[in-house]
Amino acid sequence: MSVRDLVDPFGRTIRDLRISVTDRCNFRCTYCMPAEGMVWLPKSDILTFEEIERLARIFVGRYGVDGIRLTGGEPTVRAHLSVLVEKLSRIVVPADSPSPLAGRPIDLALTTNGATLVNCVDELRAAGLGRINISLDTLDRARFEHMTRRDELDRVLAGIDAAVGAGFSSVKINAVVERGVNDDEILALADFGRAKGVEVRFIEFMPLDAEGHWVNDKVVSQDEIVSRIAEKHPLESVPARGAAPADRWRYLDGAGTVGVIPSVTKPFCGDCDRVRLTADGQFRTCLFATTEFDLRALIRSGADDDGLAAEIERAVGTKWAGHQINQVNFVRPKRTMSQIGG
Ligand code: SAM
Ligand code: SF4
Repeated sequence: MSVRDLVDPFGRTIRDLRISVTDRCNFRCTYCMPAEGMVWLPKSDILTFEEIERLARIFVGRYGVDGIRLTGGEPTVRAHLSVLVEKLSRIVVPADSPSPLAGRPIDLALTTNGATLVNCVDELRAAGLGRINISLDTLDRARFEHMTRRDELDRVLAGIDAAVGAGFSSVKINAVVERGVNDDEILALADFGRAKGVEVRFIEFMPLDAEGHWVNDKVVSQDEIVSRIAEKHPLESVPARGAAPADRWRYLDGAGTVGVIPSVTKPFCGDCDRVRLTADGQFRTCLFATTEFDLRALIRSGADDDGLAAEIERAVGTKWAGHQINQVNFVRPKRTMSQIGG
């Protein structure tokens, strides 16, 4: 079967699939989850590794999707994650795909809070994981405990070192910035990335927190983040982010790059090439989508690959132009970041 682009009504070609492997987490970040009371999905609702692999093969084999990122919840709390990584890392982008990866394995990445990496990072790398993003919002132990509700800063820092030493093609740090909470650490986090030789990607705080505390005043804009860093470390813009969510800058002194994901102040919806699969097999065409398509039900009712592909195409046919954060008609999705898969 020859590969065919999956194109949405606004002409965007889907290339990137985010797969959440669990809604559970060992942290309770204030911008994501409540301290208590999260209701977890029943185990039987969660896609098996075989179901995930089957769907991934449809996306890659039929539509030339060439990048898959595993996320959650916290993906490393899913038992035997490396078994899934091994299965997915064997998927090859079709040779007739227009992707630069045509004929080669997919770009397989993971987003993690880093707390368990010391124990599992080598196994994940050996299983074929190519890239890793680790979340770190503060370098201060008390603040870390306040923000994540866990006293795990040292373990995360050790996890970052373990990842840097594990031979990935890229290790990045994700830092959500919330005004009045950690915006005084923008420079310290940038310096940390420079010292470690990893790109820090600052993320504007989005209205996906479980407790509904998000207000626009808590968002620190990309412009502000960049100017605070540039005051100490002169920067030049790295052109053309394409479909990647981060805008990037190069340090003029040669100490690497820094990125900002401006989801709120400069949404990148116009270039979005991304779709998502939740841990319970619901297909979403936007992080902020209010509609989901139930691929799990189809799989478990015996649908063949053509049936699954038809539903995927139907869903992509509904992908909207962009989210409406800050507009009067913005509707928060019913599920929060950890339930959707960030
Ligand atoms: N547990 C993993 C982690 O924290 O890296 C993966 C899942 S987490 C939902 C994915 C990313 O979303 C993390 O970098 C996290 O900081 C970010 N995130 C969570 N809630 C957010 C929010 N309300 N606004 C912006 N980013 C958020
Ligand atoms: Fe867990 Fe990641 Fe959400 Fe923090 S951001 S609570 S680590 S899923």
